Amino acid sequence: MNLGLTSLQVEIDANVRKVCAEFGDDYWHECDENSRFPEEFYKAMAVAGWLGITMPEELGGSNLGVTEASIMMHAVASSGGAQAAASSIHINLFGPHAIVVHGTPEQKRRWLTPLIQGEQKACFGVTEPDAGLDTTSIKTYAKKVEGGYRVTGRKMWTSTGQEAHKILLLVRTTPKSESARPTDGMTLFYTDLDRKAIEVRRIKKMGRNAVDSNATFIDNYFVPDEDLIGEPGKGFYYLLDSLNPERILVGIEAIGIGRDALNRAAKYARERVVFGRPIGKNQGIQHPLAESWALLESAYWMCLRAAWLYDNKLPCGAEANAAKLLAARAGFDATTKAVLTHGGMGYAREFHVERLFRESLLPRIAPVTEQLILSFIAEKVLDLPKSY
Ligand SMILES: Cc1cc2nc3c(=O)[nH]c(=O)nc-3n(C[C@H](O)[C@H](O)[C@H](O)COP(=O)(O)OP(=O)(O)OC[C@H]3O[C@@H](n4cnc5c(N)ncnc54)[C@H](O)[C@@H]3O)c2cc1C
Repeated sequence: MNLGLTSLQVEIDANVRKVCAEFGDDYWHECDENSRFPEEFYKAMAVAGWLGITMPEELGGSNLGVTEASIMMHAVASSGGAQAAASSIHINLFGPHAIVVHGTPEQKRRWLTPLIQGEQKACFGVTEPDAGLDTTSIKTYAKKVEGGYRVTGRKMWTSTGQEAHKILLLVRTTPKSESARPTDGMTLFYTDLDRKAIEVRRIKKMGRNAVDSNATFIDNYFVPDEDLIGEPGKGFYYLLDSLNPERILVGIEAIGIGRDALNRAAKYARERVVFGRPIGKNQGIQHPLAESWALLESAYWMCLRAAWLYDNKLPCGAEANAAKLLAARAGFDATTKAVLTHGGMGYAREFHVERLFRESLLPRIAPVTEQLILSFIAEKVLDLPKSY
């Protein structure tokens, strides 16, 4: 058993931090205030070669594992950019997995190379307003026509939909009622997101304002046959393999945000003098922060354990879900305490902890909620009746 990082992983952490250091608090504050995509950061990460960390080497990627991607995203999220920084790039690390595994050589060249080079961005169209977490109840339907499909339906929360060139789109090609199993009959496309033909309406939201999320309206949109991934009807299964990496990465990003917030809180507690002494001399200030350190530390290693299992092709569903649950809670707990440690100034934009606080709630909700994670663990690990 070796529970430390390898020298390659330490190097990844240091090199990613070097790129992130170019983008300070004022940069992220401005992107958040103006709801502006962090294009300069995205470009810098592309130029430094980080956007293809998990993608095949022959296409210009690094072919590294989810463990290395986790180290990278922990560094990104703890750099002050929080979820905004992470969400501007993280779909590259797990989203195209279905293409890597099930795409033809021609599709991989056509789709993955521009993603790795930062020339194209992709978004994820899975969630629907009337299905929610019950993914097999999606209604967006693709009808087979000459040369392709005609797609009609609605997607919800499509992140980066205002920026993306492509959408990974899950649709039904057979209604649920006519499928042998609820998970059958769904099909996955990777296709142009043509905003002249598809309405992509931005949703005003609490935080992570630099990265847009949208309600997406698709009406009789043509998707050519060459944009179909694998076989029709198997799309849900293709997607499944990227869900555990997504949970692990979102989890470790939450840890990054929490650690950033905790460092800011400890600094403020050392410097702020009230009643003639630093506030950090009070145990009422110290203990919550020390507790946060312990929670973040344990969830961090849970994330890396899940990543290690995934990279070693071992079952990791329960661990990846547990990692996301614990990490998101630990991250949110740390940002909450960071705001409280700053007193009134915690509520001011100037100290940035309120931005981290707003962004740290999101990993508790997306890509899967705490309730569904607990239901999954109850069923799969504890052998309790399925409740959803
Ligand atoms: C900022 C943001 C960005 C996002 N980006 C994307 C994206 O890019 N692409 C995409 O496809 N999706 C995206 N999502 C969607 C996200 O994955 C969903 O919001 C999330 O999966 C929860 O689904 P829902 O909002 O429909 O909740 P619902 O399914 O409506 O659930 C509402 C509440 O009820 C609970 N609940 C429901 N059923 C049960 C049950 N059986 N037992 C116990 N509790 C239950 C849930 O846990 C939750 O607390 C994003 C969401 C947000 C907020």
